This record gives sequence, C-alpha cells and structure tokens, in this order.
Amino acid sequence: MSRRYDLHTHSTASDGTLTPPELIALAAAKGVDVLALTDHDTLEGLASARTAADAAGLILAPGVEISVTWGGRTIHIIGLGIDPRDRTLHDGLAGLSAYRHRRAEEIGRRLAREGIEGALEGARACSNGRLIGRTHFARFLVQRGYASNEREVFKRYLVKGKPGHVAGDWASLEAAVGWIRGAGGQAVIAHPGRYRFTRTKLLRLIGQFRELGGVGIEVVSGSHTRDEHLLFARYAQENRLLASVGSDFHGPGNPWAGLGGTAPLPSFCTPIWVDWERQRLPQAISE
Ligand code: AMP
Ligand code: MN
Ligand code: MN
Ligand code: MN
Repeated sequence: MSRRYDLHTHSTASDGTLTPPELIALAAAKGVDVLALTDHDTLEGLASARTAADAAGLILAPGVEISVTWGGRTIHIIGLGIDPRDRTLHDGLAGLSAYRHRRAEEIGRRLAREGIEGALEGARACSNGRLIGRTHFARFLVQRGYASNEREVFKRYLVKGKPGHVAGDWASLEAAVGWIRGAGGQAVIAHPGRYRFTRTKLLRLIGQFRELGGVGIEVVSGSHTRDEHLLFARYAQENRLLASVGSDFHGPGNPWAGLGGTAPLPSFCTPIWVDWERQRLPQAISE
C-alpha cells in the first residue's frame, strides 16, 4: 500500500497558524502517513512535533525551509531528514534569524513612510515573537483593513516594487545546501514554479544545486499547476533529481492546497523517499 506524503508544511514556529501538535493531529486526521515540518529558517517546532507524531503513530521527517539569496532573488531550499541537534545548521539559522529581525524593522520603517504606523509591533503581535516574516505583516495589515486578504497585502505592499519590500540578504545556496548535508539531510529546491525564472535560469540553478550536493526538487507543490507538475517532473528526470511533494500548508484557509491534499507524483518520477525505509527514517520499518 502506498503511503501519503506531505513534505512541506509550516507551524506557529514560523508563519503557520497551527502549533506543531495541532498540525500533527490534523495531518493524522487527513490520512497523512509521513509528514515533514519545514518551518522557515527555524528548527524550534521539531521537538514538540516529534512528541506528537510519536503519540499519533505518524512518521515525522524533521525538516526546515531555508531562505536563500541566489541570482539576485530569494529562493527557498528545503532540508529533509536533518538532525535537529546539528550545531552548524543551528548557527547558520541563527544568522538568518538575526537578519530577519533587522529586515522586520526595515519593513516597519518603510510601511511607516506609507502612513502605516505600528506595523512592526502589530506583526510581532501576530507572530510567536521570535520569528517575524512578511506573513505576519500581512496578517496585521488585514486586521487593520488595509486589504481584504493576505494575498492582496502581498500584492500591494510586500512584493518587489512595492513600498514595504526589502531585497533579501539571506544564506548563499552553497551555505544552505552545506548546512543541510552536514546535518545528514537531503536538500530540495522548494516550489520552483513560484520564482518565475526563465528556463535557462532555472536550469542554471539546478546545475549549481546538484554540484553542491542537492538531490531533490519539489515537483508537486500546493502552489503549482497541473502543467507545472509535469514540467518539473521532466526537469527532475532529465537532471537526475529526486521528486518531492508538499502542500506548503500554513493553516486552515491556506491560499494553496490543503494538508496532505496534493496531487500524486507523475508516475515516471523517482520519489525523494525511495530509500527512506532503508536509511533515513528507521521508524518506518517497524510499522
Ligand atoms: P518571508 O520569508 O518572511 O519573506 O515570507 C515568505 C512567506 O510569505 C511565504 O512562505 C508565504 O508564506 C508568504 N507569501 C509569499 N508570497 C505570498 C503571496 N503572494 N500571498 C500570500 N502569501 C505569500
Ligand atoms: Mn511561509
Ligand atoms: Mn517557500
Ligand atoms: Mn513553505
């Protein structure tokens, strides 16, 4: 029997709205067999997710979604099966966290110039107080009636060319892939369809990523279209990358797919979990 995988999800440790135990409970209710918690630039949710997953009999792949600046743009690299105690990974993410705080202050200043007061404090109040992202600014601006939903806030205020946008200064691709590999994990290019790269630029990214030891690409994402599933499945096959699947779930009312609700991988893909039973998730064998 084939298992149901969702290898890209968020909790309140970053910009999701469910706590890790709430996320695990919902995943179990939705029939997810293997879940990766992949919060932005933090491992903070993994310990409580582990306890909840063990109690629920759900297989948890410890993960992270690392913010990377590459080719003048922000991209996301997922680490799957990482050791949450790895010191170098921790230190790397601490550096990103420090940058995130500086960026949040700058976003607050820029929004203030637009006449929006108190945005930093408002975003902080929408967050766990330790990790502040654009989603928290978006939630605050929706609360204040600046737009009717988060997507609208992004479009008007937070994306490139808009008043609250700050160009990212995140990890290098080399550092992110290195931290993930050093922590025993598999590096995966998250949601390639969201970057709006030309084919040439995406192939350049894939080439560099493979040279650095990256192994996977998120073929099926909650934010991809059916056509993109097939396109990225072909890229995976042609470039000998393993294929991953993730909803990018942030909570009920997610703008993308529901938890565990993504389409199946095209049949010609080699899934990222091809050797997990043997190597990465020993608890899978005991089922
Ligand atoms: P950050 O890492 O703080 O720059 O925030 C990135 C996060 O913002 C993504 O992971 C999404 O959760 C959210 N996001 C980005 N673009 C959009 C959008 N157009 N609509 C809604 N949420 C978005
Ligand atoms: Mn997010
Ligand atoms: Mn992402
Ligand atoms: Mn994500």
